[in-house]
Amino acid sequence: MSEKKNGKLIIISGPSGIGKTTISDQLTKDPQFVQSVSATTRSPRSDEKQGIDYFFVTKDEFRDLIDHEKLVEYAEYHNCFYGTPIEPLNDALRKGMNVLLVIEVKGALQIMKRFNDCISFFILPPNMETLKERLSFRNKNTTEEIAERISLASKEIEMKVNYQHCIVNDELENTVFQIKEIINKS
Ligand code: 5GP
Repeated sequence: MSEKKNGKLIIISGPSGIGKTTISDQLTKDPQFVQSVSATTRSPRSDEKQGIDYFFVTKDEFRDLIDHEKLVEYAEYHNCFYGTPIEPLNDALRKGMNVLLVIEVKGALQIMKRFNDCISFFILPPNMETLKERLSFRNKNTTEEIAERISLASKEIEMKVNYQHCIVNDELENTVFQIKEIINKS
């Protein structure tokens, strides 16, 4: 009997508002892909559901996850903690699923060190003006948050050199197509 091959671990990073969630939603329409659900200390937004968008936890609960080595990576982003639970990740990989980690750069670097066969993508805006428009349009953040996220975005974009693939998200369909092509060839 042939052994089932492990799935691929795929990192998707990029500045806030670039469309990572939309890209991931498109990819997970294919049943071979699953997105890891992160734990976070951030408060849920109005449209977000516990256990689906995130596991929303308190700071103490997050600290407990770290202490019990339940996270494969974690990072602080805008005064909140975000981390990837290790068990569901390993289970999905063992089942042969391709697991998407939609995470920021500090956590991504931890994953790259730990899983040297992961495939990493950094998603770029066509330009900063477009990113600003997208952040304002999606209406998820306050004006101050948008300004903060724009200034953080420039710093995040400098980190793109650490990623195997940089993709400009101009047309969603084309972006998803490029990502799938690369994953299939890897
Ligand atoms: P948001 O608050 O907008 O949902 O996410 C803020 C940032 O945290 C985004 O860049 C998102 O990709 C990242 N993020 C979400 N989950 C995780 C995680 O588990 N680990 C890390 N390192 N970053 C995450």
